[in-house]
Amino acid sequence: MNTQKGHDNHRYWRVKIREVGPNWPIGTSTWLVPPYPPIPLRRLPDFNIHKQALVPNSGRFSYKPAKACIYCGANSYISAGTPAENPLHREHIIPDALGGDIILPQASCHECEGRTSFENTIIVQMFDAVRRNLAIRTKKGNFRKAHFPVTVSHDAREVCVRLHIGDHPTILVLPILIAPRNLVNAEPGSPCLHSLYLCNLNVSDSTLERLRLQNINTPNVDMFLFCQLLAKIAHAYASAELGPGSFASLHKSLIEKRLAKNEASNECFDFIGGNIQNEGPSRQLHELGLGYIRKDSTTYVGVRIRLFAKFNSPSYYVLAGAILR
Ligand SMILES: [Zn+2]
Repeated sequence: MNTQKGHDNHRYWRVKIREVGPNWPIGTSTWLVPPYPPIPLRRLPDFNIHKQALVPNSGRFSYKPAKACIYCGANSYISAGTPAENPLHREHIIPDALGGDIILPQASCHECEGRTSFENTIIVQMFDAVRRNLAIRTKKGNFRKAHFPVTVSHDAREVCVRLHIGDHPTILVLPILIAPRNLVNAEPGSPCLHSLYLCNLNVSDSTLERLRLQNINTPNVDMFLFCQLLAKIAHAYASAELGPGSFASLHKSLIEKRLAKNEASNECFDFIGGNIQNEGPSRQLHELGLGYIRKDSTTYVGVRIRLFAKFNSPSYYVLAGAILR
C-alpha cells in the first residue's frame, strides 16, 4: 500500500491511497501512524469491565424504560402535557444507522433529540458507504441510496465524484487513541491520536485501474464529532445499565457543544481515549462494556466501545461520569 497522510488543524484526518498492493487484501486492516513525531504513550488504567453488551449483526435487545430523559431529566417528550400524553422517545445506545439495535425506551425528550442530532452528520461523513457495503439495514431503509462520494485525484487536481456502491472504493477508517488525559494526569491539550486504523472493505488495484483512479482519499475523520459520538454512546449505555441520574455526566458540555467548520477543540480527549493494544478477534458487529475506575477518591463509570469489532478494530475507553452516592 502506498499512502500519504494529511490533516487540517489536527481536527480532520484522512489518508490518500495510491495503490492497494498485495499486502492489503480485501477484508484486512492496517494501522498508520500520523506524520507528526510519535506521541508519548500513556498506559490505560484497568477499567475493570464487568458487564458486556454485544451487538450482533441482527437481533434486538431492550432495556426497561428509563422514564426520564437521560440528558436533561425531563419526564415527557415535550414540556406541555403529561408523560402519558407525550411519552419520551426511545434511544438507540449505538445509533440505529450503525445497526445498533440495543434500545433504551422512554429516554429522550424532543429538545435533547435535537441536541444529539450531530451523530447523523458524523455517521454520514465516515460510515455512509461502509454501512451500505456491510448491508447494515436500518428502520429508515437507506438501501435506496446507491451512489456514494469519494475524493479522487485527476492530474494533481482533487475532485469529489459519486460512484455506484458496486464500484465505490470503500475503506473503514477509525482513529486509534491513547488513554484519556484526565485519567492519567496528562498535560492538558496533549495529543491523543496514536494512529489511524484502516480496513479495506472492497478495494483492489484492478478496480482502481478499471475506473482509472490514480488515487483515492479515505473519508475525513472529524475528531471532534467522532468524540461527541463516543461520548453519546458512553452516556446512553451507562444510563441504561445504571439508571439515569445515578452518575454525574462528564460529557454534558461536550455533547451540547457546536464548533464552526474551521474551529478546533481539544477538550474532547480529557475523558475519551483508547487502547492501542489489539483486542483480539470478535464475531460481533459492535461491542460495549461497562466497568468502574477509582481515581482520587472518586469512582467513575467507564465504558468500552468497540465499533465494527468483527473487523479487528480498536477499542475506545470513555469515562462516562462520577458515581453519585
Ligand atoms: Zn432532554
